[in-house]
Amino acid sequence: MRDNPPATKRNDLIASKPRGPAVTGAAFLIALAAMVGCRTGRPAAAVWPAHAERVIQSGPDTYFEYDLDADGRLDYVQRLHEGYKDRLYFPRSAGGPPREVVTRPASDPSRRPLLVLLLDGVAYERMRGLYDAGRFRLFRPPARLISVFPTLTDPAYDVLFGTGPTPGYEAEYFDRAANRLSDGVGFYLRGGNERWARYTDYRLNFLEDAVMYLTPRSVYGSELRRAREVLDRRLKAGAPSVVIYLLSTDAVGHMLPPAEIDVELARLDAWVERTVYEWRGQIEIVMLADHGMSAPDLAGEHLSLWDLPRVLRDAGFRVTDRLERPGDVVVPLFGLLDLARLHTYDAATRRQVSEVLRQRDEVEVLAARDSDAVRVYTKTGAAVVRCCTDGRGGLLYSFEATEGDPLGLADACAALRVAGRMDAAGFASARAWLEATGEHAFPAAPPRLWDGLFSISREQPDVVLSLNERFYVGSGVFSRLTRLHGTHGGLQRRATETFVMTTSVAVPSPCDLPAVRDHLDREFGWEPTPRR
Ligand SMILES: [Zn+2]
Repeated sequence: MRDNPPATKRNDLIASKPRGPAVTGAAFLIALAAMVGCRTGRPAAAVWPAHAERVIQSGPDTYFEYDLDADGRLDYVQRLHEGYKDRLYFPRSAGGPPREVVTRPASDPSRRPLLVLLLDGVAYERMRGLYDAGRFRLFRPPARLISVFPTLTDPAYDVLFGTGPTPGYEAEYFDRAANRLSDGVGFYLRGGNERWARYTDYRLNFLEDAVMYLTPRSVYGSELRRAREVLDRRLKAGAPSVVIYLLSTDAVGHMLPPAEIDVELARLDAWVERTVYEWRGQIEIVMLADHGMSAPDLAGEHLSLWDLPRVLRDAGFRVTDRLERPGDVVVPLFGLLDLARLHTYDAATRRQVSEVLRQRDEVEVLAARDSDAVRVYTKTGAAVVRCCTDGRGGLLYSFEATEGDPLGLADACAALRVAGRMDAAGFASARAWLEATGEHAFPAAPPRLWDGLFSISREQPDVVLSLNERFYVGSGVFSRLTRLHGTHGGLQRRATETFVMTTSVAVPSPCDLPAVRDHLDREFGWEPTPRR
């Protein structure tokens, strides 16, 4: 996610810096210029018909027949077989009947050019619902993809591309060694926190990120047009694969209610249909997102901003930018997230902060780093997560409940033991945890928590809060400009569970990002390659 646009950073201080207004003005001018510029290209915005001209049932198969140039003659036919469009028929010559057949899936998908389509912030539930309603049938069914923790773009895609550890959870982060906060806006605009984006062929101009959360639909529409232009240019130049990152799906997810998100994702299905048609079926596509997006039913209300710094101050802590004495706490706030992180002066401060915050209604789970373990607290339970090596280069993770059953993992632990996938000391592999708890409220929590606090980012917060579904933390300035329908960042399934789907061989479900990378390599011969 790039939730917090550069011009609307948390700190009210920023507005008084000379750079603030300049960035704002430049962002809007460049964004406007770019949007105007992109309209001068070829008419890539041509609309894909909402329905086929004719739909014919033939035994178990359905045929969709199209007259795309509206000349009264069929020019494209698709066969739906067991839920998947497995035959595409094109005319052999202009104006002729659609007799040339493209069989899907390809016997060797690695021989066709590959589009890796990376979305931002699309919940599994959204894509599953659309698929069940008949959308995205050029693809195999979506698999559940369990993202990393924190459920944020840069850590997630750094895992996919192998470009981690990510400098900070977000562009603004606390640098413990230097004892200061990063220059969030500058680091953001330099792309400093997203090394993985250098492996993509298309990413929205940074300065447009600001506009995106104000006008998500229009930026999304222009991203679809530009993505198609980049795809066509690269494929015509002979590229074996093209990597497109659509950031605006995150803004759509944050700003719109589910029914309206589905309308926007249906536009993406139309985009895919047109792309496959215009490339005469000679393209494979893998589509996934980096993390989920909550969609709480709040009876028409929006999410509420939680003033965490005030809560800490009221409890006697000093909320500051540098850690100088006991009681000091740094709270980086950049995006609008259901995740908060704190850096504390010492272990005593960490324990005091944890005691205060675990009792708060806004906090669903609190995780604290304690030497080489993660302590997990809810209002009614506590546990310890540990990690060790398996002696073969892999890692094993344990979850020991010390009070109640804080994440509801007792049954899964018992099942792992019975299946022989947990050792006597309570350790199991990340894969075993994923398979045992992939559909739980807190999927694969032990490995995700440990990695999230120790290895995924060079920023290693002392305390991390996963909020309940009604609250978010972040920029007070930005939250006055906008109302959130959903968010992410936290540990819960609603922020975690996203999807991956391919036009060829389905990814086994549930999966994680390393499994997606392995699948892309094995089935499509794809490996991340720097593009810039
Ligand atoms: Zn986001």
